[in-house]
Amino acid sequence: MRRWLFSTVLTLSFVAAQAGPKAGPFPFHPASVPGGVAVVSLGDAAERPEVTYRGERVLLRKDAKGWVAIVGIPLSAKVGADALSVNGKQVTFTLQDKHYAEQHLTIKNPHLVTPDAEEEARIAQEQKLMEPVWKEWPEGFVPSLKFQPPTKGRKTGSFGLRRFYNGIARSPHGGLDIAAPAGQTVKTPADGVVVLTGDFFYSGKTVFVAHGEGVVSLLGHLSAITVKTGQRVKAGEQVGKVGMTGRATGPHLHWSLSLNNARVDPRLFL
Ligand code: ZN
Repeated sequence: MRRWLFSTVLTLSFVAAQAGPKAGPFPFHPASVPGGVAVVSLGDAAERPEVTYRGERVLLRKDAKGWVAIVGIPLSAKVGADALSVNGKQVTFTLQDKHYAEQHLTIKNPHLVTPDAEEEARIAQEQKLMEPVWKEWPEGFVPSLKFQPPTKGRKTGSFGLRRFYNGIARSPHGGLDIAAPAGQTVKTPADGVVVLTGDFFYSGKTVFVAHGEGVVSLLGHLSAITVKTGQRVKAGEQVGKVGMTGRATGPHLHWSLSLNNARVDPRLFL
């Protein structure tokens, strides 16, 4: 029942979104920018089209005018013309520019700034483990595309920040940080299934939740994990506790949100 209601809302709001520059009551804020979510109309077709972006399967919805691709855009994407593959044919769309601020952090443990060879090997191994998890498309899960904050607190490190650790440029911030006291409850921001848990070099104790159709959340720096891989979770259900494990300067929650294996700004969905 809830799902049915949701798809109706999405359909109506999409029509409204076409009418003006300000998107209507979408369950999220479309933003055709690096780190954003592009909404691309594909026209009507009886059969569901095969849509990929940079080789990754893309989430589709249907509205009164036909199929709509909801595409996560990686921060590394170049501004200008971009394209989806729709049944093997190119459908182009345009990416606008977006400026992300700089953040300078001082970290006492030099290993967390420049990992040594052994740590690099560990990081590579962890990335290999996470690679398929970001692409999870669990059977029977339809993401609502509306999320609730996974914990209470002030949003500190915003998505896309170009970070410098002890003056050294590092990859931009691929998630949203929420400052919160250690031990505070961390909840899944939407329904899903736990697809990986672990204690990783950068994100510390981490829970990955697959919400369906390539939409995946990472909740990191936890002090405790309270779920197991394979467990189904409902929006708002506890998955862990706030901490500062991994590369963290203080207790906070890190939330990464991914569509079609592209990390996007979680605030677009709040
Ligand atoms: Zn973070």
